[in-house]
Amino acid sequence: MDLFEHQARELFERYGVLVPEAQVADTGSSAREAAGKLDADRHGVVVKAQVKTGGRGKAGGVKLAADAAAAEITARQILGMDIKGHTVHKVMLARPVKVDQEYYVSFVLDRAQGCFIAIASAEGGMEIEEVAEARPEAVARVPVDPAEGVTDEKAAEIVAAAALPADVAPVLRKLWQILQSEDALLVEVNPLVRTADGAVVALDGKVTLDDNARFRQARWGEEDEGGDTGGLEAQAAEKGLNYVKLEGEVGVIGNGAGLVMSTLDVVAGCGARPANFLDIGGGASAQVMADGLSVVLGDPSVKSILVNVFGGITACDAVAEGITRALGQIRLTKPLVVRLDGNNAARGREILEANPHPLLEQRTTMDGAAQRAAELATAAAAAA
Ligand code: GDP
Ligand code: MN
Repeated sequence: MDLFEHQARELFERYGVLVPEAQVADTGSSAREAAGKLDADRHGVVVKAQVKTGGRGKAGGVKLAADAAAAEITARQILGMDIKGHTVHKVMLARPVKVDQEYYVSFVLDRAQGCFIAIASAEGGMEIEEVAEARPEAVARVPVDPAEGVTDEKAAEIVAAAALPADVAPVLRKLWQILQSEDALLVEVNPLVRTADGAVVALDGKVTLDDNARFRQARWGEEDEGGDTGGLEAQAAEKGLNYVKLEGEVGVIGNGAGLVMSTLDVVAGCGARPANFLDIGGGASAQVMADGLSVVLGDPSVKSILVNVFGGITACDAVAEGITRALGQIRLTKPLVVRLDGNNAARGREILEANPHPLLEQRTTMDGAAQRAAELATAAAAAA
């Protein structure tokens, strides 16, 4: 589970990493009040969208306001904004910092190598992937043995590898402590800044907690309920669906993670972009189908939906019944292409033919279905 920036900031503060003074608000008027507490009329205030995705700055979700009155206006602009499919329900107001230099530091689990790695660069601020591509020598990657952790020596090694100043080393040790004590898989600070008066301050923070450790880190779960978890993802999780929002326009539903993954590839191969990953698993009952379809239909960027099912233990006729009954429960508003194959496919197709819906089409192959869904999405996008 990802934490919001303001939650990451709270952790940083608790472990002694310097952070700007900040407040959270969910309305324009409470933003004005919060800005007042931060003395915005004297120093101005930074208003930051709280969504669990990066690139908020580029998307217009991070803005400087000159005073408390301006903070209210800016907060109203940012609240409700959609950033990469995440609706902004809260803003964080932060005391502005005069930035001299921007660094990048993170610890992340490297599953392939079975250890953590520290990634660090004296060129922070922008997206680290871009720095790594343009100037790979500017990004240091140092393995960290989880049993040894970040000792003074390890911190010094990371700092030296990235040509960072020596006073970043104690910050690295604290960030590692957070990762370890809070059961995080990722702790990232971009940018970690050198302020005009020489302090090292975390200006942004991303922390991903290990869901397997949720039972001993329950308090974040409680806070999470009150906040925004990315709307559809939360809805899907409540219904027990394995849903990941992506950035395209073809909604994808399938049974089995492997099949859904390859469906994403085939959709991409047809020149369209998948809007999501949604695995309905083995039991494609009417309820599961209705839940899956309503989650995918709830994404405004979806232009067409592709249901790709390979019948196994759950046979295609049961899936077809599920789809038919689901279409009785929910209002289908976007074209739906269904491909049924495998166990009892012929019977499944007959059931769908016997229960026609003006927006439902069938194809017998995965490629054919993906092609048709891509065409429909492109046509809908052109018409819009
Ligand atoms: P992101 O775009 O989602 O990574 O959001 P960030 O929190 O990193 O903010 C984007 C950028 O805004 C940062 O990289 C900084 O360059 C800038 N920024 C944010 N807060 C401040 C601040 O208090 N002072 C200054 N000078 N820049 C800031
Ligand atoms: Mn950032």
